[in-house]
Amino acid sequence: MRNFLIAGNWKMNCGPAETRELLKGIKEQQGAMPDGVDGLVCPPAISLTAAADELQDITGIALGAQNVFYEDNGSFTGEVSTTMLNEVGCAYVILGHSERRQYFGESDTTVNAKVLKALDGGLRPVICVGESLKQRKADKQELNVRKQVQAALVDVEDGGATNLVIAYEPIWAIGTGESATPEQAQEMHEMIRSVLADLFDEDAADQVQIVYGGSMKPHNAEELLKQSDVDGGLIGGASLKADSFTDIIQIAE
Ligand code: 13P
Repeated sequence: MRNFLIAGNWKMNCGPAETRELLKGIKEQQGAMPDGVDGLVCPPAISLTAAADELQDITGIALGAQNVFYEDNGSFTGEVSTTMLNEVGCAYVILGHSERRQYFGESDTTVNAKVLKALDGGLRPVICVGESLKQRKADKQELNVRKQVQAALVDVEDGGATNLVIAYEPIWAIGTGESATPEQAQEMHEMIRSVLADLFDEDAADQVQIVYGGSMKPHNAEELLKQSDVDGGLIGGASLKADSFTDIIQIAE
């Protein structure tokens, strides 16, 4: 069946020096990833080279970026291409995080363009979707997340399905200390898998890792990861400390 994916989204934290320090800490506490658990860290772009260097001797932890542009190298000031991410050793890229949607005008259309570009460039997109508190209060979470998943995957061919990861991240749970309940997470993950089955087929949908993000911590990870459609975590705050990140890895094991 599916491996767990335990992924750290470091957001705008850790320059190259801190990146090395954090990965050294992770290395000390977690020599290699356990069977059945894939690891991933996503530092800021400026720290990817330092991270790639440190990760050389940690088995099973891959490197990912937090964003990529949907064009080839050229006149796009401030952006980073799939070619560049490949060159520094990235295997994954987070796309459509709610913070990018909120602060940087990322839309379903740009997320879709980036997903297509990432797949084309051999990167596995970690596509973030999730409802706001207002949408949840209005019981619109399913409608909203279904639309986000469908929009992100326009024109993705069947073969692409097995190379992507979906992160369900309810916005109200991000950085608030209030995670979704295991039942809420399972309900949304199951719905997302059914959307994937409609878009692709059941076999492909069964292979996609659907991870949960939003205040996942060592104290709540076990209950969340026990749910049949929760295949790991996209972890913010708790991924910035070697001990809490490795604790969650060990819980997944
Ligand atoms: P927190 O774990 O800090 O809530 O962040 C979650 C997140 O946004 C991961 O992408």
